Amino acid sequence: DSVYGVDKWGMGLVSVLPNGDLGLKNPLKPDAVVTSLPDIISNLSERGIQTPLLVRVSSFLEQSIIGINQSFAEAIERYKYRGVYRGVFPIKVNQQAQVIQRIVEFGRPFSHGLEAGSKPELAIALAHDLAKDAMIICNGVKDADFVRLAVLSRKLGFNTVIVLESPKELETVLQVVKETGQEPLLGVRVKLTNEISGNWAKSSGDRSTFGMHTDQLVSVIDRLKGEGLLHCLKLQHSHLGSQIPDVNDVRRAVGEASRYFVELIREGVPLSHLDLGGGLGIDYTGEKAVNENSMNYSMAEYCSNVVETVSYVMDEAGIDHPILVTESGRAVTGSSSMLVFNVLEATLYDAQSAPEPEAEDHHLVSDLAKIADYLNLDRLQESLNDASFYRTELRALFRRGYIGLREMARAERIYLHVMSKIKQLAPAFGEDPVIDEQMEKLVDIYHCNFSLFQSLPDTWAIDQLHPVAPLQRLNEQPDRRAVLSDITCDSDGKIDKFILANGVSSALPVHSLDEETPYYVGVFFIGAYQETLGDLHNLFGDTNIATIELRKDGGFDLLHEQEGDSVGEVLSYVEYDPRDCIDAFRQLVDRATSENNLPASDRKNLMSAYRAIISGSTYYV
Ligand code: PLP
Repeated sequence: DSVYGVDKWGMGLVSVLPNGDLGLKNPLKPDAVVTSLPDIISNLSERGIQTPLLVRVSSFLEQSIIGINQSFAEAIERYKYRGVYRGVFPIKVNQQAQVIQRIVEFGRPFSHGLEAGSKPELAIALAHDLAKDAMIICNGVKDADFVRLAVLSRKLGFNTVIVLESPKELETVLQVVKETGQEPLLGVRVKLTNEISGNWAKSSGDRSTFGMHTDQLVSVIDRLKGEGLLHCLKLQHSHLGSQIPDVNDVRRAVGEASRYFVELIREGVPLSHLDLGGGLGIDYTGEKAVNENSMNYSMAEYCSNVVETVSYVMDEAGIDHPILVTESGRAVTGSSSMLVFNVLEATLYDAQSAPEPEAEDHHLVSDLAKIADYLNLDRLQESLNDASFYRTELRALFRRGYIGLREMARAERIYLHVMSKIKQLAPAFGEDPVIDEQMEKLVDIYHCNFSLFQSLPDTWAIDQLHPVAPLQRLNEQPDRRAVLSDITCDSDGKIDKFILANGVSSALPVHSLDEETPYYVGVFFIGAYQETLGDLHNLFGDTNIATIELRKDGGFDLLHEQEGDSVGEVLSYVEYDPRDCIDAFRQLVDRATSENNLPASDRKNLMSAYRAIISGSTYYV
């Protein structure tokens, strides 16, 4: 393995090949040859599919659907649980057609269904021919149109469950039932009191936005009884929030949900399904720790804990084991896609050589240069202090007009040269926290062809960590450390927290760039939430997307290509019609042509330059 800790976070899907390439392994074919990711990228590039590129690996998606269903099946067998598991995929986690279609296909043998939290998501769910026993669970706030379609879809054989979020929503349902004459399948969302830790703590506990308190639950039951519709209430739902770090929070919540289930059965509610929502995490850092980016359990352990907890509570109450439903999204799609981008250039915070100070330069310039004479390991800190002092003083002199541009340029270059010597001497990162802190200010900036806001919104919004690593040269010791800056004009547009073999670091070890060959970086496990949460900051649009399947022989098949947004497309998202823009530009060109007597060829060049922008990619090409 390497400094990047790929074996730790790679989930067996990503690994380092002997030639230093990152490789992807088809988890469904144990004896498959590992496919080189740089080879995939260069092959796609030859076909005209350029970076920045979102690579979706169909085999990874298939593996996680099989994985969660098999893990529940094994737990059910182990605990002699007398009920089945019926997972549903929450569409909001990744609504892209290529993803949902594959989930439905891979999930068919397991009757894996879908969860819809809005009208568009219900429309997506009902556009799929699901397995006979698969369910569609409708969560979220619903109006009469939403409820009507959900209720009527039962005529087509869909097992569409309307999960009541509030007593008011029940009134809408009752109205639609009267209007359509079709009985609904109903669920109730209960608000659990146990609070979880992690980024989504606020989705749990008393103050969470969704679900009903106990007394609202009772009033819903009474109202349904009064309407003679209590027999329609089949499912109990709860959801604690995403990425639950501690499995014991899962146990406690499942225990509480099971207690509600028992009490509802005792009230005469004929519940058959216990839906425990999402929350199953991904160990992004591979630490197996209780923190926002990791978790202290595996998928198999999660399934065991759920099955065991439910069966204990039901057995104690003498109640039949319910059909278990979970709405795992992150754990199903998270690992299946990665973003690959190329590094465009680097801003280096050191210099291999520097000019000599000139005779007329201020003495501080030669003081700066002289640091190199006394620099050694024992005087490292002193040298850093001196360099920083002299540079600050020189900058002050420049601001006040005592030194000119070329002298300042010389001083800066000498400073960077001293820094390069300091970097060579400094202890390895992680050995001395005080020096580390100083060195943080000297890491390079690698400018990369992507938008953080479009492709990795959670990195910006909630400090989500995704594993990041160069795709190539991993058999070479990285000789530099860098933060990765994107191409938006926003200083927040950078990645400056990285998962490495020895912990989280504020810089990524990288290799010196070589002019000839592209240097690619991958950000892994971004298949959950990132695609639609991404925004158009600076009008950088969707990247190209390639869906691939890993072949057993180490090759790959391109299953689908989705071209990224063109400039014209993103303009239309912000109320500009690209044709109107072309017309307006043409008028300006024509005016300038007549007023300034521009040659005809200028008109042609101007128009074709404008058109090339409109039809081209929003990214660096
Ligand atoms: N179900 C509901 C109701 C949700 O709100 C969510 C997302 O937070 C999920 C399921 C998916 O959760 P996860 O991605 O943690 O599996």
